[in-house]
Amino acid sequence: MKKTYATLRRAVLAGTAVCATLVAASTAMGQFADLTKVPAPAKIEGRAGTTPAPARKAGEGVGPFKKMVIRGVTLIDGSGAPPRGPVDIIIENNVITDIRVAGTPGLPLKDSREPRDFDYELDATGMYVLPGFIDLHVHGSTNDKAPDLSYSYKLWLAHGVTTVRGVELADMETSLSERARSARNEIVAPRIFVYQRPGNGKGWTGGLTNTPEKAREWVRWAAKQGIDGIKLAADPNQPPEVLEAIFDEAKKQGLGTTAHLSQIGVGRMSALQAGRAGLGTVTHFYGHFESLLKNGPIQDWPVDYNYQDEQDRFGNVANLAKESFAPGSKQWWAYLEEQKKNGVTFDPTMTIYAASRDLMHARNADWHEIYTMPQLWYFYQSSRENHGSYFFDWTTAREVKWKNFYHKYMRLLNDYKNIGGRVTTGSDSGFIFKTYGFGYIEELELLQEAGFNPSQVVTAATLNGALTLYEPKGKPVPPIGTVRVGKLADLVIVKENPLQNFKTLYGTGHLRLNEKTQKLERVGGVSYTVKDGIVYDAKKLLADVAEMVRAEKAKLGWPEQGLPRP
Ligand SMILES: [Zn+2]
Repeated sequence: MKKTYATLRRAVLAGTAVCATLVAASTAMGQFADLTKVPAPAKIEGRAGTTPAPARKAGEGVGPFKKMVIRGVTLIDGSGAPPRGPVDIIIENNVITDIRVAGTPGLPLKDSREPRDFDYELDATGMYVLPGFIDLHVHGSTNDKAPDLSYSYKLWLAHGVTTVRGVELADMETSLSERARSARNEIVAPRIFVYQRPGNGKGWTGGLTNTPEKAREWVRWAAKQGIDGIKLAADPNQPPEVLEAIFDEAKKQGLGTTAHLSQIGVGRMSALQAGRAGLGTVTHFYGHFESLLKNGPIQDWPVDYNYQDEQDRFGNVANLAKESFAPGSKQWWAYLEEQKKNGVTFDPTMTIYAASRDLMHARNADWHEIYTMPQLWYFYQSSRENHGSYFFDWTTAREVKWKNFYHKYMRLLNDYKNIGGRVTTGSDSGFIFKTYGFGYIEELELLQEAGFNPSQVVTAATLNGALTLYEPKGKPVPPIGTVRVGKLADLVIVKENPLQNFKTLYGTGHLRLNEKTQKLERVGGVSYTVKDGIVYDAKKLLADVAEMVRAEKAKLGWPEQGLPRP
């Protein structure tokens, strides 16, 4: 595996020379005969950094405008209200200033509707408008996955994601600077919320934050640097007393908190205990079922379990389904009621582990060929080194176990929603065959599978995310998350009705048989994403990403189409 790039390149050239005829036939289609023979991307040793996005170029988005009118749409406003339309939406600079009834369903729209003093008019007659989506669990595309952060930014925007909570997006300095550049719209990117791990920051000189005092000191220091919140893990340096101090100090400083309660510490800090101590968001599934174990707080690890072996770690998580109390039991409801009382948000990120229940589906997703960077594609492949690439011998039995686990997990989320608990959408893309943006849309589908009706899914993706981001800042009425007068102009504009079919939101669209022609057609994909009053053509963003991927493949000598598969 230690072959240098040059050796591999030579091997490929030699290979193609031998198979000249085949190559000649296949290059017409831009394909190599044998995709397993293409050179691997250079591996980055150690922790990969991130490269800031290039500046927004002329022609990348239009606006903001003194007055823009979006005409003739059906509005799904994010609050859970039913769709209504046709309406015209008036935006001044980056604020929604009016929503006007534009006609009557079933009758032709009136021409020349007021207002007429606009600088820009977007005729979206017949389309649907939703609030910009909020992804509460993201990491930016690191240098081992893409040339710079714009790869992830553009894929998020192309899927309607106008706000992201970076947990972490990048290191503290890069994250803060990218947040500011995005706020000034100097880059093509969603709004960024900066959550950082304890101890992070170049200017922090206090060392390890493994005592309550040190942890509080870091929280106060990090708040001064301007972060929005803290990402926690129950790692060995964050024992319960440290986590408790952080939850408490974060509240005092107006910072949010989100925790991945990993197996390392969850035995002493379950999601229930964390909720009692003041945690804001439980991300992933970690901690829920450990709060519901029938035989006490510690999972029954197989005796040969090793946490650093990721197949052990991720394979055995699914055992929790059997070890925990049943849905509907007294303990089940008591757990959910107490989490609700403590105001805990569940950010399930089902998409990021969904490959565990159907690996072949994840590996063969429609989007990989055109939109997955070659580096990222390599990162996804089973490997003992890459985080989340834990499919060493992934059997039917393992998938069945995960399907059962997800069944129970979905029931938990749906029951939490049913009693009024807050559930949000996060994707954690960039691992396990989930490419940025696409993974986020899958999360919407998974919430529907869990039992959320489509309007509830949209509310989880919009209003609930906004509340979770702004409440810790002492702003219970967020400026984003719904399409209402006075809110910021962050919108998703789509041709197909997303409530009817979330699949139409995928950048690769949805296949539908045209009954007139009897031909399959690809429909859907977001048409426009509006962020801060700037209108982005979502198809153009996808084309930019496709071009980035093509350029990277060309650098490696890969064919335009196809992917190397083991
Ligand atoms: Zn993550």
